Amino acid sequence: MIEQAFNAKRPANPTAGPSPVGEPGGPLAGGREAQGEVPGDSTEFGVIGNYVNGEWSVPKGAQLTDVFNPATNRPHAQVAMSTAEEVSRATQAAQAAFPAWRQTPPIDRAHYFFKFRELLEANFDEIARLITQDHGKTIEDARGEMRRAVENVEVACGIPSLMMGYGLEDGAARNIDEWAIRTPLGVFAAICPFNFPAMVPFWFLPYAVATGNTFIVKPSEQVPVAMRRIFELIQDSGFPPGVLNLVNGGRETVDALLDDPIVQGISFVGSSPVAKYIYQRAAANGKRVQAQGGAKNVLVVLPDAVPLLDKAVPNILGASFGAAGQRCLAGSMLMTVENAHKDTLDAVVEASRKIRIGYGLDPNVDLGPVISASARDRIGNNIAEGQAHGARPVLDGRNVSVEGFEEGYFVGPTVLDGVEPAMPLAQTEVFGPVLGVTNVKTLQEAIDRINASPYGNAASIYTASGAAARQFRYHVVAGNIGINVGVAAPMAYFPFAGMKGSFFGTLHGQGRDAIDFFTDRKVVVERWL
Ligand code: NAD
Repeated sequence: MIEQAFNAKRPANPTAGPSPVGEPGGPLAGGREAQGEVPGDSTEFGVIGNYVNGEWSVPKGAQLTDVFNPATNRPHAQVAMSTAEEVSRATQAAQAAFPAWRQTPPIDRAHYFFKFRELLEANFDEIARLITQDHGKTIEDARGEMRRAVENVEVACGIPSLMMGYGLEDGAARNIDEWAIRTPLGVFAAICPFNFPAMVPFWFLPYAVATGNTFIVKPSEQVPVAMRRIFELIQDSGFPPGVLNLVNGGRETVDALLDDPIVQGISFVGSSPVAKYIYQRAAANGKRVQAQGGAKNVLVVLPDAVPLLDKAVPNILGASFGAAGQRCLAGSMLMTVENAHKDTLDAVVEASRKIRIGYGLDPNVDLGPVISASARDRIGNNIAEGQAHGARPVLDGRNVSVEGFEEGYFVGPTVLDGVEPAMPLAQTEVFGPVLGVTNVKTLQEAIDRINASPYGNAASIYTASGAAARQFRYHVVAGNIGINVGVAAPMAYFPFAGMKGSFFGTLHGQGRDAIDFFTDRKVVVERWL
């Protein structure tokens, strides 16, 4: 029912193995649950430890935190919360690995990634299932996430070309040549959010390591399971010890990374307050930082798009309710212009009623649970607060119950009409399947309202008019613009970040920006006497 606009539109990769859940056999076919076991058994994934210097371990004395399957509210793993001492062990291992890795020719570094890519493809569906179990998103969405992760590896395989510098004979003066060479800096770290357990680290990891740096990944403590499997594949790919390290944990772990003098740069993705904190603290310690924050993305529907609603509405639903609204690119506000309101609202609500809610491993499910009980409660409070300020719930997803998963953190699709700019709901990042709707008089009013927001991650317009689309693209201050596309998700070879309070830094993730972030330009002026 939901168009998963974020997902790959290309057919599945032919080298990927068969899907264990995509075939007939009903929900949950092919997994443990199919054998009648309860998903979320606490022993299912055991203790998630660290991968440091080519070895797995659970750091001594580390506090263990339960990790829950959000569809069942049962702990299915425990994650080790790394201390500053453990972080230091990882940064030292990464530093020790740096000189030899830097001297490894770029084409040889790429060969490790060729192998890694093949292993990711061979284990593609297994990892997608882990994402669904740990995060709750549908299996289709998890596959889309994995596809985007793999694509970043594919792009980084072009490192010998991507990393080239440039030179100019007689560039400084007659008989004095000048070159700019790209050089890696040392140890980098990525601090990642819960909502894309596999994809977000890949906005950085392949580029950092292919350019000759060594790397540490700190996943979200809420979803550590998939990254452990991915690091097993990193190990199988034969990367030298210390080149890639996995350190699990929470705030203490993050602070240790921010303060460690070995770490040259930090890539962060998460909420805006934490992004700002990371940016300030890492920069104060002399590191380069790219810190991507939260969002409040608007979808604008012009009257000339009303005849196209049959195509636009599934797209709007995909943007708003895909991954239960837990994407930084999620459509959170729907702004109908002039007389587009009634038709658009009616069509959105009618289609939303058909969304099937349940456990994400069931291929017939469109909408899984949100990440945690506290997220569910927070979203419920956001809806109640919106109502208290005068917004009208046309569709209310609170108190949904899913048979067999009564304890899961489910919130159904929710549509609130009359969400005016002064209301908290118009400003707050809900990060759940909640769509606020408002009517504006003109396209310019929509643009002004979007630009008044402290966030600037994404904005989309549905229209048949090229001129209106250009006006929107030109004037909206947001890092990602969709024209008749609800989720403006750029591909691996394009940069990705927001603007305003959605991003702290200069160079974005992915593509050429990532190459710039993970290298310095050394200029050589050369004269032979
Ligand atoms: P979060 O900010 O709570 O956590 C992100 C990471 O920071 C985690 O690894 C966590 O352990 C760590 N962390 C959390 N609080 C910290 C603190 N006080 N000090 C140090 N470290 C801390 O974000 P989340 O809830 O995991 O992810 C959802 C958020 O991420 C949403 O706001 C979403 O919009 C945003 N997001 C943004 C993008 C983007 O590209 N702009 C992409 C994905 C998600």
